[in-house]
Amino acid sequence: MRSIAILGATGSIGTQALDIIDRHPERFRAAVLTARSDWEGLFRAVRKFRPQAAGLVEEPPFVPEDLRGTEWFFGGDCSRRALEAVRPDDALAAVVGVAGLDAVLAALKCCRRVLLANKEALVTGGHLVKELAAQRGVPLLPVDSEHSAIFQCLEARGDNEIARLILTCSGGPFRTWERDAIDRASVSDVLRHPTWRMGSKITVDCATLMNKGLEVIEAHHLFGMPESRIDVVVHPESIIHSMVEFEDGAVLAQLGVPDMRTAIGYAMGYPERVPYGGERLDFAKVGTLSFGNPDPSRFPCYRLAREALQSGDASAPVALNGANEAAVAAFLDGRIGFGGIARIVEAVMNRHVPGRVQTAEDVYGIDRNARRLAQTEIERILK
Ligand code: NDP
Ligand code: MG
Repeated sequence: MRSIAILGATGSIGTQALDIIDRHPERFRAAVLTARSDWEGLFRAVRKFRPQAAGLVEEPPFVPEDLRGTEWFFGGDCSRRALEAVRPDDALAAVVGVAGLDAVLAALKCCRRVLLANKEALVTGGHLVKELAAQRGVPLLPVDSEHSAIFQCLEARGDNEIARLILTCSGGPFRTWERDAIDRASVSDVLRHPTWRMGSKITVDCATLMNKGLEVIEAHHLFGMPESRIDVVVHPESIIHSMVEFEDGAVLAQLGVPDMRTAIGYAMGYPERVPYGGERLDFAKVGTLSFGNPDPSRFPCYRLAREALQSGDASAPVALNGANEAAVAAFLDGRIGFGGIARIVEAVMNRHVPGRVQTAEDVYGIDRNARRLAQTEIERILK
């Protein structure tokens, strides 16, 4: 029986993890549940799973009488304090955005294993996260489906060199759209992802292809691969979740229906596989698998993310991520158009001055600065 903290318990990843716990009460116990502001959602989960501790960034107006057997923490550091109080075996980092970096660092100090969905924590604080994980001997188990696929393929690696990592990419809802149409896409066009159902921020990132750029950076940190040996192939069916190529040209792939519970369950149960009752792959029904190259001219965010990693400046991905988070929020609020996201990120990257990234405070300083620059750019667009 493993005790697990779900940080970001009310989100897309968090609720799917709770679904797995619900199906396997003999294997997993939810020990800590945290969220930002959705107190109604968190109360429901606490009522069902009865964790030792729970936390909300925004303090709710009240905590119902029947939920007071759980120890409650409120405020921006609620995840860290709940982890310190309970020290569960595992923590699933499923907070969205750089806001989750502190929780990942706290989990590395308090838990035996960290299951990582929160890619922005690695994109911004990759060096800090990797260093702390190595120092404390805590395994980082990837939850992002592409990285989980690579991790699974690497189980067959032995002592062999990896020639190349190949991340697959659905291409998002605008894969076949012209540049002008992409520029004018509405929020509802964007939120209609062809193969995956996810939180709104990552859904927007999938439409700009920023998500794939962030995933290249994530793969660089997780697997210690240089940018030049991480390729991306567009694969609209999302059946191959990613691949590893070896020196002899052999390519190993991990396949399955697009259902995040496979990747979440793999990390939760590792090294055992956890059945969850999902749909099985029917090859005849899928019929054809197709492949193509990503197009950086229609999806500049993808290019900008690769350039940030290529630059070798550890602060560049932090600025890229901060600018993107600010621009995506402005798009979702209806303040800027879809094409504005890439323009804002590019403008921020053009003005970015490299800085040192040795502590989490350094990350937050660069992040704040990038958001300030992005805000200036948003106001310029609005004029
Ligand atoms: P959602 O927006 O659906 O959920 C985010 C969760 O984080 C919510 O529970 C939210 O609470 C909580 N949260 C936000 N800020 C804080 C904070 N400061 N402290 C504690 N909790 C917080 O996002 P997703 O589940 O889609 O994504 C989560 C992460 O996983 C992202 O980094 C994403 O890139 C990654 N990921 C997601 C995939 C998916 O299929 N969804 C696939 C691969 C990676 P509240 O509800 O109260 O706002
Ligand atoms: Mg992914």
